[in-house]
Amino acid sequence: MNISELRQQVADYARLSIERGLNQGSSGNISLRCGEGLLITPSGSSMDALGPNDIVYLSLDGEAEGDLPPSSEWRFHRDIYVHRPEAKAVVHAHSPFAVSLACLRRGIPPFHYMVALAGGSDIRCADYATFGTQALSDHVLKALEGRCACLMANHGLVAFGDSAERALYIALEVEALCEQFWRASLLGQPVLLNEAEMAEVIERFKGYGKPG
Ligand code: 13P
Ligand code: ZN
Repeated sequence: MNISELRQQVADYARLSIERGLNQGSSGNISLRCGEGLLITPSGSSMDALGPNDIVYLSLDGEAEGDLPPSSEWRFHRDIYVHRPEAKAVVHAHSPFAVSLACLRRGIPPFHYMVALAGGSDIRCADYATFGTQALSDHVLKALEGRCACLMANHGLVAFGDSAERALYIALEVEALCEQFWRASLLGQPVLLNEAEMAEVIERFKGYGKPG
């Protein structure tokens, strides 16, 4: 994909994040890796009203091009691309069930095997820090160790993947898991899968959906 197509894809996925119920208004942000930098949604703009020219190019050292300011969360997007070479797209959302759980500063325990989709036997909740700060980015990076998604205390969720489609899919799945965990918790204490059961699922996911 050339840079114009990548810009269009960021705008399309920003709109999709609203259409799929992950975001509203200007909450959340989306980026794609682009050469030695990234393309990211602008700060404070409606996520469903962006065109390709509104998307901001940012180098990995944080220098933005153009007139529009990059998302205030450019630090954790940048830090994910720097520290996680497999990341090609990052989705951040303030989706209702992820926010609800994150306001309790609780991650998602292994109540369902799909928790392993994020890479481990739980999905952590990053410690709280003010939005847009390097401290928040540091907490997010730590919560993402060995994982491709985490919750963010009193804030939301972050997911990344090797494509925009994959990052959105992971974000939607994390939101669904938060809702399922909340519903199950209303009925009682969910029975958690043990380490061996989760390790087996993690192993199976390595070949899941792949030929042979
Ligand atoms: P931006 O509009 O600056 O991307 O901020 C939205 C957000 O979700 C901050 O955490
Ligand atoms: Zn946010």
